[in-house]
Amino acid sequence: MGLAAIKTDDPLTDDAPDSAFAAAHAARLNQGAAAIDAIMSDLSFDERVERTHRVLRGAADAFRGKLAIVSSFGAESAVLLHLAASVAPDTPVIFLNTGKHFAQTLSYRKKLAAEFGLADVRDIRPDVATLSRADPRGDLWRRDPDACCAIRKVRPLSEALDGFDAWISGRKRFQGGLRGALPVFEASKGAVKVNPLAAWTMDDIETYGVRFRLPAHPLVEQGFASIGCWPCTKPVEAGARARSGRWRGSEKTECGIHQI
Ligand code: SF4
Repeated sequence: MGLAAIKTDDPLTDDAPDSAFAAAHAARLNQGAAAIDAIMSDLSFDERVERTHRVLRGAADAFRGKLAIVSSFGAESAVLLHLAASVAPDTPVIFLNTGKHFAQTLSYRKKLAAEFGLADVRDIRPDVATLSRADPRGDLWRRDPDACCAIRKVRPLSEALDGFDAWISGRKRFQGGLRGALPVFEASKGAVKVNPLAAWTMDDIETYGVRFRLPAHPLVEQGFASIGCWPCTKPVEAGARARSGRWRGSEKTECGIHQI
C-alpha cells in the first residue's frame, strides 16, 4: 500500500498533483505520530516493549510483503532486530555492505541473523562501475564523505527499497541532532518510514539487551558506541554522546540515507 493507494479518503480532489497528496498525507501521518508519541511517552519498560510490538505488528500487517528493515548491524542494532524477529522474522533486512565495514560488523551480522532466525538478510553493495569511476582508490571518504556516502549508501539503499512501500529504522530521539524530533511514523518520498524505537531511552536499550541476553557488537567493549564504516567511526569517552564518534572532526552527522 503506497501513498497513491492511501489518497482515496483525501479531501483533495483527484486532480490535485501527487506532491499535494503526499504533503497532505505527510501532515496526517505526522499528526498520528504525535498522538502515538503522546501515548508512548509515559510508559513503563514492559509497556513500551508491548507498544513497540504493536507498532511492528501493525506495520507488518499494513505493508505485508512491502515492508523492509534497514539495519547497520551496529552497536544498538540487536534490539530492533530481536523485536522484529519476534513479530515478523521473515521481514527482509537490508544491510548496506559498503565495503568499508569493520570485520567485526560483518561477523556480527552473520551471528545475529543466525541467532534471531532472520530469514532474509540482504547484503546490498555499491555498484562496481560507479565505484571504479568515482572512488578507484577507495579513499573518497577522506576527500568528500558526502559523495562517498552517496555512492556506498544512499544510492544503493534507494535502489534496494524500490518495490517496498515502507521501511523500518532503528533511530532514537536520544541520539540527538536531527533525530531529536523523530516521529514513530513519517512519510518520506513516496514511502512510510517507521521508527518504532523513537521514544526509547538508552536505559531501555540496555535493559532490553540484558533481559534477552542479546549479543553485543564486539567493538562496544573497545569504546565504540555507534558503529558505521571504519574510516568514519571512532571510539568515544564514557558519557560522551554515542554518535560523536561518527565523522569526527567534520560537520557531517548523518550519511544521508534518512533523506530518502
Ligand atoms: S560512512 Fe564514511 S566510508 Fe562509509 S560510506 Fe560514508 S563516507 Fe564512505
